[in-house]
Amino acid sequence: MKIKNGAEYIESLRKIKPVIYYKGERIEDVTRHPATAPHVRAAAMTYALASDDAYGDVATATSHLTGRTISRFTHVHQNVEDLIKKVKLLRILGQKTGTCFQRCVGFDGINAVYSVVYEIDQKCGTDYFERFKQWLITIQDENLMVVGAMTDPKGDRSKGPADQPDPDQYVRIVERRPDGVVIRGAKLHMTGAVNSHEILVMPTTAMDERSKDYAVVCAIPVDAPGITMIFGRQASDDRRDKLERIDVGKPSFGAVGGEALIAFEDVFVPNERVFMDGETEFTGSLVYRFASHHRANYGACKTGLMDVLTGAVSYLAQIQGTAKASHVRDKVTEMIHLSETLYCSSIACSAEGWPTPSGAYMVDTMLANVCKQNVTRFHFEVARLALDLAGGFIATLPSQYDLESEEVGHLVKKYFSGVKDIPTEERIKIARLIEAMTGGTALVESMHGAGSPQAQRVMIFREGDLGKKIKLAKALLGIPQKERAPENG
Ligand code: SF4
Ligand code: FE
Repeated sequence: MKIKNGAEYIESLRKIKPVIYYKGERIEDVTRHPATAPHVRAAAMTYALASDDAYGDVATATSHLTGRTISRFTHVHQNVEDLIKKVKLLRILGQKTGTCFQRCVGFDGINAVYSVVYEIDQKCGTDYFERFKQWLITIQDENLMVVGAMTDPKGDRSKGPADQPDPDQYVRIVERRPDGVVIRGAKLHMTGAVNSHEILVMPTTAMDERSKDYAVVCAIPVDAPGITMIFGRQASDDRRDKLERIDVGKPSFGAVGGEALIAFEDVFVPNERVFMDGETEFTGSLVYRFASHHRANYGACKTGLMDVLTGAVSYLAQIQGTAKASHVRDKVTEMIHLSETLYCSSIACSAEGWPTPSGAYMVDTMLANVCKQNVTRFHFEVARLALDLAGGFIATLPSQYDLESEEVGHLVKKYFSGVKDIPTEERIKIARLIEAMTGGTALVESMHGAGSPQAQRVMIFREGDLGKKIKLAKALLGIPQKERAPENG
């Protein structure tokens, strides 16, 4: 692996010059800018773990393409064990960063594209699979970070790509040349985009024959001509006026992943980096495989976050002298129970993994959808319990500037103190961490990342096989098994 650790990853980002804007101004160095540096450090943890012997088994893998040791984030799952190691790795990273470390999006994109382009070649006689493998070997050997770019702006949601009044609302090919294609459009909410090396563009939805120009998969360096990124705001981001501030909550890492709009204004992509061009019938399975892999992750990375939150609240209870109260213990028990239940579903959908024709393993899609659906409930309930236990001072706490003020600092220290011998500053730090982990941006990500809850409910119903369940009930009662209309199962 060319990039060997977190420091080398950060150094590698200084050598590329993507066009990034934030609050109307250009960011020249994402590794040093207060808005983006915390996200860079979270992603750097994925590199750090791979270089740490204690985590080598989960954080690295052996490439099935080259036999070389690679970061697991660039690996194609070869068996159930790989799927399980992935979720174990994500929980550890969630625990160490308390936030989204971003690199799983490209990881899931790699796995989804690998399996689907194999099937395109089988049916259409194309050579996408070979192109993709060559690109992937470079990603593995260089140990690059890839942003999986799926979500299109979608414009008028009542219309598909081909019927939009503005055809750029979905990424599309606007020109085909002998040596490549030119693409235009945008991708929204792109986690980790500003600190990735490569963009893996994928279609956002299943498409019909009329949308051939929109059925495109390709890889582009983040600093290719024509690409502009606009980094999104997060709750309380003005508190990051300087790096390492207590008021931020997680001084080293971001609130969530750090998302950006990526605009493609007529970007040229050479043929060897194009992995789908017009094969609309494969768009549905590509989207579904990507979404399922990513939904499987959420019961692991978010469990890691909930572990941190549970620890924060438990320590705050100690500082405040409430840790032994029976209702506090009961609520902490519930937080742990919900976290472990969520983790079960990540493990389960991995344990029930299956091989695609390419040899790449997929998670069980039903269980992955259940996993993500539960995140939209359990993470919120864990956050609710954390706020219940923490108390209202989370919302009224003075700033670090007051804590350090010569005039009023002594008042903050005295009146926000807890039990003897624990400095007030620790209580404030823990409170800010809880605030950051239960606040707006963090939970929105749990709700809508990897697809909004309704997207999972659609798939849960579709895969629920009601017909079979009705037969089970009838069989038990001896009712004849006559076929009925589809709406009855
Ligand atoms: Fe990875 Fe979780 Fe962030 Fe998605 S939300 S990129 S699975 S850490
Ligand atoms: Fe996410």
